[in-house]
Amino acid sequence: MKRYLIDPKQKWLKANLHCHTNLSDGCLTPAEVKSRYMAHGYDVVAFTDHEILHDNSHLCDENFVALTAVEYSINDHADFWRDEKCIHLNLFSRDPHNTFHTASSVRNAGRYYERFKDEFRCDGYDRVFTVESINEVVRRANEAGFIVQYNHPNWSLNTREDYMAIEGLWSLEILNYCTELETGAEYCPGIYEDMLNHGKRLYCSMGDDNHNDGGKDFGSYGGVTYIGVDKLTYEEVFDAMARGNIYCSSGPKIHSLFVEDGKVVIETDPAVNVVFTSRNRRFMNRAGEALTRAEFPLDFVTEYFRLTVFDDKGGRAHTRAYFSDELNQ
Ligand SMILES: [Zn+2]
Ligand SMILES: [Zn+2]
Repeated sequence: MKRYLIDPKQKWLKANLHCHTNLSDGCLTPAEVKSRYMAHGYDVVAFTDHEILHDNSHLCDENFVALTAVEYSINDHADFWRDEKCIHLNLFSRDPHNTFHTASSVRNAGRYYERFKDEFRCDGYDRVFTVESINEVVRRANEAGFIVQYNHPNWSLNTREDYMAIEGLWSLEILNYCTELETGAEYCPGIYEDMLNHGKRLYCSMGDDNHNDGGKDFGSYGGVTYIGVDKLTYEEVFDAMARGNIYCSSGPKIHSLFVEDGKVVIETDPAVNVVFTSRNRRFMNRAGEALTRAEFPLDFVTEYFRLTVFDDKGGRAHTRAYFSDELNQ
């Protein structure tokens, strides 16, 4: 029996899960970001302004979903926004009208607090850069109906000790396109693999983190997360994300992924290589010419598997990790 993990009968929406507008340090209004992204074929943008959870759902229509979200920082220093160690988390809200700012603290919100203090509700929780504090933020966020993405670990100067300690994450941002262009260090599938191999259970996603300085498109349209839904509604988009009905790509599209007759089969845009990664196992499928289908025996799977598709222009598509217990259902 054929069992789809990426079902071609669904709509695979094109999403940018990380952006900044003039509500924080971006240069465009949310409506301008929407119109530029729609002109590039996007269906979904998560508005992840720093420290301000703003309801942009008035921008939702039959062709577009504006996810209510916030980028939340925990800094290893009292002053907000210094170029030193920190953790940045994107919190995506199940409720589009949620403006509860989870676990906020005046001290760490800095200039954004001054700007948004009427909207900004503080629940008295003080953010500090400790394992306990970071995990408390994630716990409170999950409890308040958010899923939590761990952003740009290299830009944040995080070490293995830092990321292994975080519990309750929905996803790792394996490509932050803007930061990758600026630092060359923010494409991090190796960190994803390290987390998986040490028992972490989370998905992977990509985003742009565009700020549109000078009104330009620097750092835009490079890190896409595709979300599989039957209908384009806020609720379906969020549920699909939460369930992991996603893949992400800086180039090639994945057309389908399924399990059938003891094999994992992927169908994609023309690729020069498809790599199967499992715990302590890796297999390549290099045809030397464009391939659009690859298969791997299901019994190669140890604990989880994920696939990476390479195109001839340097683009990569990543499936999330699929875990053995999901495959055996
Ligand atoms: Zn950030
Ligand atoms: Zn950001």
